[in-house]
Amino acid sequence: MEKDRGRDSGVAMRSRLLLAFAGLVFSHAVGAADPAAISQKATTWRKQHEHEILQEFSDLLAIPNLASDKPNIERNATAIRALCEKRGLTTQLLTLEGAPPIVVADLTASEAKRTIAVYAHYDGQPVDATKWKSDPWKPVMRDSAGNDVDWKKPKAIDPEWRLYARSAGDDKAPIIGMLAALDALRASELKPSVNLRFVFEGEEEAGSPHLARYLEKYPKELRPDAWILCDGPVHQSRRAELFFGARGTFDLELTVYGPIKGLHDGHYGNWVPNPIVRLTHLLDSMRDEDGRILIKGFYDNVKSPTAAELAAIAKIPDVQADLRREFQIAATEGNGKPLNEVLLQPALNIRGIESGHVGAMASNTIQTEARASIDFRLVPNETPDSIKPLVERHLVAQGYTIVRDTPDAATRDKHPKIVRVTWGAGYPPARTSLDLPLSREIAAIMSAAGHDPVRLPTVGGSIPMYLFQQPNDTPVIGLPIANHDDNQHAADENLRLQNLWDGIEIYAALFVGLTTQ
Ligand SMILES: [Zn+2]
Repeated sequence: MEKDRGRDSGVAMRSRLLLAFAGLVFSHAVGAADPAAISQKATTWRKQHEHEILQEFSDLLAIPNLASDKPNIERNATAIRALCEKRGLTTQLLTLEGAPPIVVADLTASEAKRTIAVYAHYDGQPVDATKWKSDPWKPVMRDSAGNDVDWKKPKAIDPEWRLYARSAGDDKAPIIGMLAALDALRASELKPSVNLRFVFEGEEEAGSPHLARYLEKYPKELRPDAWILCDGPVHQSRRAELFFGARGTFDLELTVYGPIKGLHDGHYGNWVPNPIVRLTHLLDSMRDEDGRILIKGFYDNVKSPTAAELAAIAKIPDVQADLRREFQIAATEGNGKPLNEVLLQPALNIRGIESGHVGAMASNTIQTEARASIDFRLVPNETPDSIKPLVERHLVAQGYTIVRDTPDAATRDKHPKIVRVTWGAGYPPARTSLDLPLSREIAAIMSAAGHDPVRLPTVGGSIPMYLFQQPNDTPVIGLPIANHDDNQHAADENLRLQNLWDGIEIYAALFVGLTTQ
C-alpha cells in the first residue's frame, strides 16, 4: 500500500508537470483551470451540501428502473430531465417506438469548439427482492459494519457509509455526481471549457437493443466529438480508473453426432464413434491449455499492444496474487503474462459441454450427440465477420462436414463426421488510443485533481463501445466511479459514499479543465 502510494504521488507530480506544459500550449483552458484547485472547490461545496446530494440520489433510486417496466422507466427519464433543467441545462427526450427514452441535456460553453458527451444509464438489472436485506427500491444507508443509519439527521456523514438500492452503483451514481459537479462549479462561478452533452440511456442492462437505431436516427444529438462513458466499477485497488476499450464478442454452439440412438458401450464401444470424444478432441484442436487459439489465421488481424498500452499495464496495481488466492488457483493461463496484457488478446472460452451423465446417473452408453457452447472475445481489428470463416475452415480441416440444422438420415449416411454450427449474437471490439491528446488530457487532469487513474487499455468483458466509436472512429473513454465491491447486478447493490464524492471532484475538474478544442 505505502509503496503504491509513493509511486502514485510521483506519477501525480509528473502529471502536474505535464499539465503545466500543456498549460503553456493550451494557455486558454488548462492554464485557467487548475484541476487541484477546482477539485478542492468541489470538495468544499460538497461538504456543505451532502444531505441535499444524498436526498436527490435517494429520490432517484426510489424509482424502480427495469427497462421493460414502461411507466416507471419513463418516470426515471422525467425525473432526470427535471434534475437537468433545475441546473439550467437544455434538455430533450429522444424517443424510438418501444424503447425507453434517451435523456439528452446540453450545457454549451461560449468559446468551446468541441462537444464532449458524458454517458450514463438510468435503468438497472432485474431484482430478486427475496435475496435483498431490504427493498431494492427503498434506499437504505448503512455504516461499514452493516448497521442501518439515519443519514437524514443533521450530523456528520461518514464517507465509508454506503447507500443500498438497485442502481446505486450501476449506474445512477454518475448521474448524481455529474449534476452535483455542475452545482459546485456554478457556486464557484466556474464555467465548463467544452460543450457538455449529458446522455442518459434507459435500457443498457437489457443489452441496449435500440442504441444502434438511436445513433442512426439522431446523428446530430448522438455524434459528439468524443464520449466519456461513466459506467461500471473502479479498479479493485480503489484507485480511480479509465478504460479505453472493450472486447467484442461472438457466440458459437457446436454439436457433433454419434449413433442415432444410445448404445451399450460394452457391445459397441471403440467401433461406434463416441460423440463426447469427438467433441473434446475438436475443442482441443481449437484452443490449447494456455488459452492460445489454434485456429489458423486467428491472430492475423490482432493489433499488437502499443508502447503506451504496455506502459499503462505496467502501472496497474498488481492484484493477481490476491486474485489467485481468492479463486484458489495455483497457476494461470496466458503464458505467465499479466491479466491485463492477456485481455488485449482474443479468447475462446468454453462455456459448457453437455452430453451423457456422471455420478449416480452415469450409464454405460455411447451417447447420440455432444454439444459445446463457446464465446469468443474479440480484439481490434477482428470482427465477427472476420473470424467466422476462419473457424468454419478449421472445422472442415478437422474432417467435419458443417450443417446448420439437425442432420437427416441421408446426410448422416453420407458424411463420417458432422458438426452442426450455430452462430449466436456478436459484435466487434473497440479501443481508443492511449496516445490521443484527449486520452492523455483526461488522465493528466484526474491525476492533478488528486485522482491518478489506473489506465486499462481494455476491459475484458464486452460492452458495445463500438457503437459510440463507429463510423468516425470517435474517441470513447470509460470513466467509472462506483466502488468495485458495489454488488452490481446482484442483491444488496450499494454505493460507497467516498466514491460519489471522488466522482464529483473528477467531473468538476474535467468539465472545466478540458481544452476547448
Ligand atoms: Zn452499467
